[in-house]
Amino acid sequence: MKQLKNMKDYVVYWLTGSQTLYGDDVLQHVAQHSEEMANYVNEHVPVTVKYLTTCKSSEEIVAAVKKVNADDNCIGIITWCHTFSPAKMWIKGLKLLQKPMLHFATQYNERLPYDTIDMDFMNENQAAHGDREFGYIVSRLRMDNKVVVGYYKDPEALKEIASWCKVAAGYAFSKDVKVCRFSDNMRNVAVTEGDKVAAHIEMGWEVDYYPIGDLVDVIDTITDEEVDALMAEYAKKYTMGTDRIDVVREQAKYEIAIDRFCTENGGYIGIVDHFGALHGLNQLPGLAIQDLQGKGYGFGAEGDWKIAALGAVMQYMAGQKGTGLMEDYTYDLVDGLCLGAHMLEVSPQFASTKPEIQVHPLGIGGKSDPARLVFEGIESPEAIAVSMVDMGDRIRLIVQKIELVKYPHKMPKLPVAGCMWKYKPNFKEGVAAWIYAGGAHHTVVSSVVTAQEMVDLGNMWGMEVVLIDENTKIEDFKKQLMWSDQIWKTKL
Ligand code: MN
Repeated sequence: MKQLKNMKDYVVYWLTGSQTLYGDDVLQHVAQHSEEMANYVNEHVPVTVKYLTTCKSSEEIVAAVKKVNADDNCIGIITWCHTFSPAKMWIKGLKLLQKPMLHFATQYNERLPYDTIDMDFMNENQAAHGDREFGYIVSRLRMDNKVVVGYYKDPEALKEIASWCKVAAGYAFSKDVKVCRFSDNMRNVAVTEGDKVAAHIEMGWEVDYYPIGDLVDVIDTITDEEVDALMAEYAKKYTMGTDRIDVVREQAKYEIAIDRFCTENGGYIGIVDHFGALHGLNQLPGLAIQDLQGKGYGFGAEGDWKIAALGAVMQYMAGQKGTGLMEDYTYDLVDGLCLGAHMLEVSPQFASTKPEIQVHPLGIGGKSDPARLVFEGIESPEAIAVSMVDMGDRIRLIVQKIELVKYPHKMPKLPVAGCMWKYKPNFKEGVAAWIYAGGAHHTVVSSVVTAQEMVDLGNMWGMEVVLIDENTKIEDFKKQLMWSDQIWKTKL
C-alpha cells in the first residue's frame, strides 16, 4: 500500500496580525505570546502548529503567504489579531493564499485584569477590535474560512481546532487521491455516475481505468509463499469458519495482487470493481476487498469511483478506524431501522464481533462461491453517512447523522457483515430528506469522522453541502434545496 503521511508531519502555520503603531516592546510581547499560544495549540491537535510571524505590513503578509503556499508540508494557516491589524494590508496576501484558513478569535488573557487594566493593556490586547477588522476583509473577499472563538486553552475551542486541522489534512490528502478502476459503472445505474474531470478539478482525484485482465496478469504471478503469509495474517485477525481453504486462498491471492497493482502503478488508494466485470477471476473479491478496506483503502462497488475516493479521504481523517463503504440495503419499518451491508464488501473496521471467514454462494454475478468476512456491526450514537452525487452542474455532498445500533435480533442466515442504524432526525424525515437531496444508496459511513468535519471539508472543496441532522424539518429542507440550487447555479 502507498505510504500514507503521518498527520503530525503536516504543518499549520500561525500568523499573528499587528502593526508598528504600538512600538517594539508591544511587538515583542505579541511575538512571545503568539509563540507560546501556537505551541500550546500544537500539543492538542493531530498536526503540527507552528508560529510563523507577526504580520505588520502588506509586504510581510505577501512574503508569509508565499512561504505558506510553497511549503509542501503546510496544509493551512491559523490567523489571529493580537492587537489591531489594519486589514487593507491583508488584501494582497489573502488573495494569494492557496490553503485553508482558520481565524482564531482568541486572547492571550482569559479574564480582564480588572484591578490593573489601563490603556497600555487595552492597546496590547485588543483581539475584540482586531478580529473584526480582519473578519470584514475576509468576508469582503468572500473567502470560505473557518472561525473558532474562545480562550486558547479552552478545551472546546481546542477540540474545534483539532477537528479543523484533521479536515485540512484530509483536504491535502485528497489532492493526491488516485482511484484504480477495474470497471465502468454498472449498466443503467444513475447515481454512481459523475464527471471525473470535475472531481479532478475540485477534489484533486485522479480516476483511472484498467482492464480487469491487467489485474489477472498480476494474480497469476502471486506465489504460494505470499499467500501463506497473508493467510497467517488472516488467522491472527479472523476466525476461520470454513474448511474450503482453497476458496479463501484465492481471495488472499486477489488481495495481494490488487494491493501490488495499486502500489506499483503510481499509488492508488481507492479501488473500484464490479461484480459484472470479472473476466478471469472465479470469485467476486470479497474478503480481499474487506481486508484492504480494513488497512485504509477506499472502495467503491459497481464502478462507484466517487465513493472509493471519498472513502479513502475519510479513512485518512479517521485514522483507519470505523469508516468504509456501506449501502442502505433493507428497512425494518416497525422499529425504524436500516440494515446496511453490501453483497460482500463491508469493512472489518465496523466489526463488533470477531469477523469470521465464511464461504457461501452469491446469486449475483455468476461466479463461484466467494469467501467473505461475516460479523455484526458496531454501535455508535454519533455516526454519519456521506454521499456524493453529481447534479449535472456541480457535485453535491450529502451528510446525514445516523446512530449505529446493535442488531435487535440475531440474523443467523445473513451471509454478510452489516451495520444497523437509525436516521436523524427520525426515520420518516431522515429517509425523506435523503431522497429529496438525491443521496445515493452507496455511502461512506463513519463512526469517527463527524458531520461538522464533513461540512468543513465540503466548504474547503468549495462545494454544495447538504446536512441532515436532528434539526432537519422537511418543509424547510425542501426550501433549502431550492435556494441552494439557485445559489450554486449563480456561482457557476
Ligand atoms: Mn452496491
